[in-house]
Amino acid sequence: MGQITLEKVTKSFGDVNVIPPLDLQINEGEFVVFVGPSGCGKSTLLRLIAGLEDVTSGAIKIDGTDATNLPPAKRGLAMVFQSYALYPHMSVRKNIAFPLKMAKMDPAEQERRVNYAAKVLNLTDYIDRRPGQLSGGQRQRVAIGRAIVREPSAFLFDEPLSNLDASLRVNMRLEISELHNSLATTMIYVTHDQVEAMTMADKIVVLRAGNIEQVGSPLELYRNPRNTFVAGFIGSPN
Ligand code: ADP
Ligand code: MG
Repeated sequence: MGQITLEKVTKSFGDVNVIPPLDLQINEGEFVVFVGPSGCGKSTLLRLIAGLEDVTSGAIKIDGTDATNLPPAKRGLAMVFQSYALYPHMSVRKNIAFPLKMAKMDPAEQERRVNYAAKVLNLTDYIDRRPGQLSGGQRQRVAIGRAIVREPSAFLFDEPLSNLDASLRVNMRLEISELHNSLATTMIYVTHDQVEAMTMADKIVVLRAGNIEQVGSPLELYRNPRNTFVAGFIGSPN
C-alpha cells in the first residue's frame, strides 16, 4: 500500500507548461520530500497526486491501479492541511472525527479511529479542548489527526510547518518523523527548506521549474550532486 507511480505526467495552466513530462516512483512506506525553490511546481505536483488538479497528460498509478481520473476521495490518500484549516468552534475530538462524520461512518468505528489518532499524536489530554485553547504544535497535530483517521495509504503534506515559529518547527519535524516510524505509511512532504528535506527524507526529489533535477537519499545527494543547482540547494561542498 502507498505505492505511487507517475508516468510521463505533464501539467499546463492555459498554455503555460508547469510540469514537463515527469516520471517518478514512490515506494511503499517511503518518506519522500519534494524540495525546490518557490514556484518550481512542488504544490502542483502534490495536487496532481491528490487529484485536486487534473493531469494534462500522462498517468498516475496508486498501488497498481490507474488513478489518473479518480476523484480525490477515491484515491485513498490524505492531504494534511495547515492547522489554520481547523474549525474553531469544534472540540479536538470533533475536528478529528469530521471527515468520518461526513462519510457517515459507524459511530463506534469513528470513536475507535479518533481515540487511536489522539493516542499516537499525544492529544488524549486535549481531546475536549477547542483549537483556540491549544498551542501551535498541538493544533498542527490535530490537523494531522484528521488525516490519520481516514487510514490513508499515503499522507501528503504541503509545507505544513511554514507558519510555525522556528523552535516549534524543529519539534514538529521530529514528531512527523516519529509518526512515520510508527505508522510506516508512505508520506510525501513538500518543502522549500533544505534542512527539513535532509533530516526527514528517505528519498529527496529536487525540482527546478517542474523538472526533476535529481532523486536520491539525502546522503547520495550530498555526496554526489548531479549539478551545481542540486549542490547549492542541498548545501554540499562542491
Ligand atoms: P511551488 O509550490 O513550488 O511554490 P506551485 O506548484 O504552486 O509552486 O506553482 C508552480 C507554477 O505554476 C508557478 O509558476 C505558479 O504560478 C503556477 N500555477 C500554480 N497553480 C496555478 C493555477 N491554478 N493557475 C495558473 N498557474 C498556476
Ligand atoms: Mg507550494
